[in-house]
Amino acid sequence: MKKICFFDAKPYDKIYFDPFAKEYNFEILYCDSKLNERSVVFAQGCDAVVAFVNDRVNAEVLNALSEMGISIVALRCAGYNNVDFKEAYGKVHIVRVPAYSPYAVAEFTMGMFLSLNRKLYRAYNRIREYNFSLIGLLGTDFHGKTMGVVGTGKIGQVFIDICLGFGMKVLAYDPYPREREGVRYVSFEELCRHSDMISLHCPLTKESYHLVDEKAIETMKDGVMLVNTSRGALIDSTALIEGLKEGKIGAAGLDVYEEEGDYFYEDYSGAVMPDDELARIISMPNVLLTSHQAFLTREALKNIAETTLENLRQYFAGEALPNEICYRCAKNGSCKKEHKERCF
Ligand code: NAD
Repeated sequence: MKKICFFDAKPYDKIYFDPFAKEYNFEILYCDSKLNERSVVFAQGCDAVVAFVNDRVNAEVLNALSEMGISIVALRCAGYNNVDFKEAYGKVHIVRVPAYSPYAVAEFTMGMFLSLNRKLYRAYNRIREYNFSLIGLLGTDFHGKTMGVVGTGKIGQVFIDICLGFGMKVLAYDPYPREREGVRYVSFEELCRHSDMISLHCPLTKESYHLVDEKAIETMKDGVMLVNTSRGALIDSTALIEGLKEGKIGAAGLDVYEEEGDYFYEDYSGAVMPDDELARIISMPNVLLTSHQAFLTREALKNIAETTLENLRQYFAGEALPNEICYRCAKNGSCKKEHKERCF
């Protein structure tokens, strides 16, 4: 029976992974800690590691795993910006779950826009104190407004469907456009200039790091609504705070934050928040911040569990690894998986 060390485990993970683990004959050791240079020792004696979005799969961790004889890390997520692929290559195979439910993230994104626009989170708190005033709750119709969608892959496409259903105009920016009716592809600069609302659905790469910076924000329409459900570092937090303070950004929905690794998924309610920028962002009445939860639906968790363990089964069975990713796959798709349909 293969032993799997499962980092950053939460009770809902166990519910969805245990039935598949039984089926695949894997023993899972659930570990509360995030994977990092210190916690990597918990994987000693295991055959594989399962990691999540805020686990650090850096050079030190990869070398430690390799020394323990572990040569596979299965990411139970789609994004992989937390992996040092150059270091992993030739040593540790990296597999992921490329798609589990684009609907989960796209629907959550629209939920954030709607909630910010009509200030549902403020209304909820008011009513609980018997404050029935409507002052400060004014919103706008979405119908006829322009949504700018940055990244039109699996999630971006579903999000565009939702926007078109609302009767919105859609501008899109993606280096690999997928032309379709009702969507006009433009440059990122043009998208910023003409969108009433902007939603980010692209991966975090060297090229997209701080895509939304001071200059991009300056270009945006006054009062623009910005939602990020992709990766925190797509937005320069300092520039975001300035944009919000000046009123340039009318409202921001953030399911991710560039320094989320230390805080998200943990209970800090009894502590003084050490991150001043995070505290400042949370303090603003026109910001809705959530703890990287856009993926969290029953359907998504079931698909994540099944694909993650199927990836591991394929690895142990010596089969092709369709969901493997290496630095060449991630960079320009030049990896041809020539090694028995594996990256190396
Ligand atoms: P995908 O690979 O299907 O699509 C990504 C798209 O972004 C592609 O079309 C690609 O060409 C485009 N792209 C790449 N670089 C770009 C850039 N610099 N500017 C604009 N577009 C660019 O991925 P997906 O499944 O749609 O997921 C999108 C992102 O959503 C993931 O990378 C991940 O970071 C994030 N995500 C977040 C959650 C969550 O819970 N908040 C869950 C799943 C995924």
